[in-house]
Amino acid sequence: MKQYKHIESALLHGGFDGDPATGSVNVPIYQTSTYEQEELGKHKGWEYSRTGNPTRAALEKLIAELEGGKAGFAFASGMAAITAVLSLFRTGDKIIISSNVYGGTFRVLDKVFNNFGITYSIEDTTDIDSLNKKITPDVKAILIESPANPLMTVTDLKAVSDTVHRHGILSIVDNTFMTPYLQRPLELGADIVIHSATKYLGGHSDLVAGLAVVNDENLAERIAFIQNSTGGVLQPFDSFLLIKGIKTLGVRLDRHVLNAEKIADYLVKSDAVKKVYYPGLPTDPGFEINKKQAKNGGAMISFELFENYDIKTFFKSLNLIALAESLGGVESLICHPASMTHASIPYEIRQKVGITDGLIRLSPGIEHAEDIISDLDRAIKTSKIK
Ligand SMILES: *Cc1c(COP(=O)(O)O)cnc(C)c1O
Repeated sequence: MKQYKHIESALLHGGFDGDPATGSVNVPIYQTSTYEQEELGKHKGWEYSRTGNPTRAALEKLIAELEGGKAGFAFASGMAAITAVLSLFRTGDKIIISSNVYGGTFRVLDKVFNNFGITYSIEDTTDIDSLNKKITPDVKAILIESPANPLMTVTDLKAVSDTVHRHGILSIVDNTFMTPYLQRPLELGADIVIHSATKYLGGHSDLVAGLAVVNDENLAERIAFIQNSTGGVLQPFDSFLLIKGIKTLGVRLDRHVLNAEKIADYLVKSDAVKKVYYPGLPTDPGFEINKKQAKNGGAMISFELFENYDIKTFFKSLNLIALAESLGGVESLICHPASMTHASIPYEIRQKVGITDGLIRLSPGIEHAEDIISDLDRAIKTSKIK
């Protein structure tokens, strides 16, 4: 086993200790569905690739190590990971979700799990006292994001975990926006961490993947059973790509965050900008709590322009920054939550939780900050209604 103390090293060396057969420093891509058995009942620990595959296993071990958990699971997408985790529940159970979560998380609860009698309610998880009152006997879990998508609302992860544990229920954290490099929810008491690894973990906008990590043997066994039974597993080649992406997570995120801080500063100073949502700003309502539980404010920024700027013209005038769904890629990506990532949330709920039609969500890439800011500045100026 390689010796190291820091997560920067774990990103590179976790999960795989070299290939004894060849010395390969990278995990081989075991592109196989099955494994020949020596005789009846005698095999090398691998039977069928839905159940287990060595490339996927290296990734699962890596993410468990990074999040400080006992077991990791890799899925075909973030939504497949979330679906597997929600499959732990049964008819009559209710899940509380924080008031801004990823649109797809809302949709799968509202349109899929609802059909099986698993209900949900949307609550403000930043207010622990009021949340505590919402935990009725049918509530079996709380699913949160911090910072939450797309308003970067910060929830006190430790306070939520302490609260839900008093009720004997589970705390589930979608850690996509922060990654274990910036925030480790299991260490703050969460029971399950989920990821859309499509975003920062993969980091190159070249794959769709999801992960789940737990610290408890019993939960690990149940999720392993669901993963094998429902079968939404990550393929060997994608597992390899994700491991490769994770190796550079630390250096990428350092630059992403640096750029985000510079861009947030530009946006705050701009007289075209009505509001900036970024927990890395000392003026942000989530700043103090975020500082307590995460390394920094992360790299995701949302903002609103004043009404005398035309949002359609703004998006059209961007040249470097790509108008696209997704986030966390090395290239800057920008989106309009109301019509894109959060369109599956009905208009009334969007208004209620503050996802206005003027909201813009930016995922700064690792280009030079000045180039990103120039692009924003040009587009903002062009979009001004004369
Ligand atoms: C993208 C995203 C998801 C869904 O993941 P996919 O990989 O697209 O299935 C879930 N949660 C958050 C916070 C996301 O950004």
